[in-house]
Amino acid sequence: MTTLVLDDLHVRYANAAAPVLRGLSLTLPLGRVACLLGPSGCGKSTALRAIAGFEPLAAGHIALGGEVLSGPGVHLAPERRGVGLLFQEIALFPHLDAAANAGFGLRRWTRDARERRVRELLALVGLDALAARMPHELSGGQQQRIALARALAPSPRLLLLDEPFSNLDAATRDGLATEVRGILRGAGQTALMVTHDPDEAETMADWIGVMAGGRLVEWRPSRAAASGE
Ligand code: ADP
Ligand code: ADP
Repeated sequence: MTTLVLDDLHVRYANAAAPVLRGLSLTLPLGRVACLLGPSGCGKSTALRAIAGFEPLAAGHIALGGEVLSGPGVHLAPERRGVGLLFQEIALFPHLDAAANAGFGLRRWTRDARERRVRELLALVGLDALAARMPHELSGGQQQRIALARALAPSPRLLLLDEPFSNLDAATRDGLATEVRGILRGAGQTALMVTHDPDEAETMADWIGVMAGGRLVEWRPSRAAASGE
């Protein structure tokens, strides 16, 4: 089953001479994790921003679960895409504790349902004991786990991760990558991640995509997936 389809995406920034994405196409199966690698400036972040709905397309289309999110005459608002985001900048609300941050996307849920979901998520990321901590009382790795809980809370159809570990020290980064891979696998979460670190990509992904010049030049199973791990 297929969930995410990028078909011939073209994106051009307003003041740029040439488009940044020039025919990016890929198909990500439901429940799989893919990592995009490629040289700096090849358009990886732009691809995620287009999927999230922050950049209009000049051509091509993006579909998720058979629904067109962006395409000729279509541009669904970011909050209506069912897409969760985890970016490099850890952006917790500084005045909200860990639980309130994790439940931020569930403000319209009933209090009971929200509290239950937040407990479940904090347990998932291993921080149930720290629910009442404020962001400044958490380490960088713990803050990024809360940001992950917040992104997963509304059960997004797709999780987008842009260099989510690159602001962390090396030891935290490696441990967290392995842990997050386990969380995504366990949840059957479809996810597309951008990284510049080939080892991190092999750790995290089922599929590795390599971009160059605004399109995909390689798409292969990760070493872990290929060895049936
Ligand atoms: P990557 O994530 O692969 O490093 P990006 O998608 O961030 O690449 O950027 C691709 C190209 O688009 C780069 O040349 C970058 O300078 C340019 N770019 C990124 N954002 C903007 C923007 N808002 N306006 C104009 N150019 C941009
Ligand atoms: P890391 O090396 O992962 O950045 P830290 O050394 O920052 O971790 O934190 C180690 C432990 O101390 C963590 O369990 C964290 O919860 C706790 N901690 C860190 N900062 C504070 C703080 N300002 N107040 C209370 N506890 C803290």
